[in-house]
Amino acid sequence: MSIVDTLNAGWTQLLDLLSKVIIPDWGSVILMLPILIVLGVVGPLLTILALFWVWYFIVKPRGAAPRFVDPGPRGAPIGRDGYPQFPAGEPYCFQDALIYPVGTTRCDVCSRVLVVRCPRCGLGRPAEIDTCGNCGLVLKAEKLPRGMDLRRVPGPPPGGAAAA
Ligand SMILES: [Zn+2]
Ligand SMILES: [Zn+2]
Repeated sequence: MSIVDTLNAGWTQLLDLLSKVIIPDWGSVILMLPILIVLGVVGPLLTILALFWVWYFIVKPRGAAPRFVDPGPRGAPIGRDGYPQFPAGEPYCFQDALIYPVGTTRCDVCSRVLVVRCPRCGLGRPAEIDTCGNCGLVLKAEKLPRGMDLRRVPGPPPGGAAAA
């Protein structure tokens, strides 16, 4: 056996080895195709769904929460002076630092008469009184029961159409 033959034999073995490494075994790749599809398509979809789920249930409720606020009392924010801040025009209980919806006259917690501050002149008065004793501003319109249409167009006086 010459040196050339030995080199040739070694070269052939090397090529054979390289071909096994470089050229993929297509049979096994096709068998793995469903797994690749699952990993490549279903995986990202599940990830997106999971992210959406996380976004929907963790992030979204914070933004949407104010829409579902119960029209019950809410806590008054504490101002820089350490005292609760009550907005004008809304009944509030100073004792419990609660702000009530317009139309409420008594505190649910301590049953005290609520106080409302006039939005125009800032004077406080019991929420049971509709008209401001200082400037005459009336808050009564907001105390109408629900479902009453305040925007209805005033029609002709009763009997006016029949007389015509
Ligand atoms: Zn109270
Ligand atoms: Zn007033």
